[in-house]
Amino acid sequence: MNAAEPKTLSLYIDGEYRPPAGGAYFDNHYPYTGEVESRVPRGTAEDVNKAVAAADRAFREGPWATMTATKRGKILHAIGDIIAAHAEELATLEVRDNGKLMGEMHGQMKYLPEWFYYYGGLADKIEGAVTPAEREGMFHYITHEPQGVVAAIAPWNSPLLLVAWKLAPALAAANTIVAKPSEFSPSSMLRLAELMVEAGLPKGVVNVVTGYGAEVGAPLVEHPDVARIAFTGGEGGGRAVYKAAAEHFKRVSLELGGKSPNIVFEDADLDDAARGTVAGIFAAAGQTCMAGSRLLVHESVHDVFVEKLIEIVKDAKLGDPMGADTDIGPIATPAQFDKVMHYIDVAREDGATCELGGTAAEGGELGTGRFVHPTIFTGVKNDMRIAQEEVFGPILSIIKFSDEDEAVRLANDIPYGLAAGIWTQDLGRAMTLPKRIRAGSVWVNAYRVVSYMAPFGGFKASGIGRENGKEAIMEYLETKSVFINASRGIPSPFVMSTPGDD
Ligand code: NAD
Repeated sequence: MNAAEPKTLSLYIDGEYRPPAGGAYFDNHYPYTGEVESRVPRGTAEDVNKAVAAADRAFREGPWATMTATKRGKILHAIGDIIAAHAEELATLEVRDNGKLMGEMHGQMKYLPEWFYYYGGLADKIEGAVTPAEREGMFHYITHEPQGVVAAIAPWNSPLLLVAWKLAPALAAANTIVAKPSEFSPSSMLRLAELMVEAGLPKGVVNVVTGYGAEVGAPLVEHPDVARIAFTGGEGGGRAVYKAAAEHFKRVSLELGGKSPNIVFEDADLDDAARGTVAGIFAAAGQTCMAGSRLLVHESVHDVFVEKLIEIVKDAKLGDPMGADTDIGPIATPAQFDKVMHYIDVAREDGATCELGGTAAEGGELGTGRFVHPTIFTGVKNDMRIAQEEVFGPILSIIKFSDEDEAVRLANDIPYGLAAGIWTQDLGRAMTLPKRIRAGSVWVNAYRVVSYMAPFGGFKASGIGRENGKEAIMEYLETKSVFINASRGIPSPFVMSTPGDD
């Protein structure tokens, strides 16, 4: 794609593309070349009001919430199909926004339909219950009802995947949506909203506002008609969202950052573990929430394992994210690039040893992009900043341990708890260790595996709530108890009825 002429994007409200109320736009750049990719509407509270009004109307007036659950499920299925048919187009939009590799983004787009098939299938399996009567003539049943307008707020690193984790269960549960993609990656969500309507989603059910967190995200979160907030992003935004939600007792889920341990035991298949470790931290240039950025290695295999890692990583090809043979793409944003470079300095100042990388990469086909050489630090102590703080870049910190208890202690000695990897061939260890790790996802002899069927989320500062899996749908539902008195008798007008009264 040639971005010689930057495209001007629009908001998507009530089934139509619309300009922002304030008329302002900002430039979004292709991370690989720095050229202006698009002009993004700088949304404001006024746009939020319109989008929420459309979503609220669609929720209250139907037909979305009033159609049969089976029909809703079929529409979700059709959305999956239309995404599959446009996978390459959507992936290209994402690469141009966030600079991640086409191979990764295309893979995500090809997998994305499964979320809509899975939750489409669940839409008409949201069942209530009837309890045994414990009062004569009293009938009690339990139903699950949609919450209303859901604000779906997403980061730039996997724009549509992370929004689909919210949209698919929320829609299956008959809610309506105002989505707020990252200011750095709005294009794919805007296109998806249009495709969803093409697939049969009634207008107003999914709306999209774009712009900055403080200018459009904050008013969205605070809007009185937004019932539920599903947020994925960093700690600062997460804290602001949680506080705003508390003010109005809104339902909220937060998918936040991590500093995930990847633990290599002396009995591991070291070649597999080395490939898995590299995939865990250097895929997507480390710009993933679940990056295995803290490598804990048993002291007896430490040196040989570091050599294996360097052997795999040293010839990694940095370059054009569209290139089929590129291993590592650019860093997505200028702020993120500065942060990565800053943490390289911090690690050195704190006494870690740089075994590989440690500098920005430039020249040749890297053009004007922001690239960082894959970087490996040894001699890291778990209390160093490079071991405790999320970098979100291609930096691996290696820490030695001497026995299983120490590995568990180091793995858990962190404010985060998003994910962890364990590499071992000992069946007993593989079976018992996951329980001792305080993290929402644990992989044994694998890393960075997600599925629409597998609940995903964080312990501790990595978040609240779970996305994916059957239970995610419950996070978008309210539970109601209904008592129907069929006895035609009220025992006492002044005393609450209890079974003992009978
Ligand atoms: P970010 O927090 O800067 O932004 C995320 C989204 O929130 C953006 O759309 C932004 O505009 C919006 N936002 C920011 N402040 C807001 C506010 N006060 N109110 C409402 N909305 C606001 O995060 P980012 O830099 O885009 O993404 C990187 C972060 O996301 C990392 O910390 C990473 O670990 C995390 N992340 C977590 C997961 C997960 O599933 N746990 C997945 C991917 C990324």
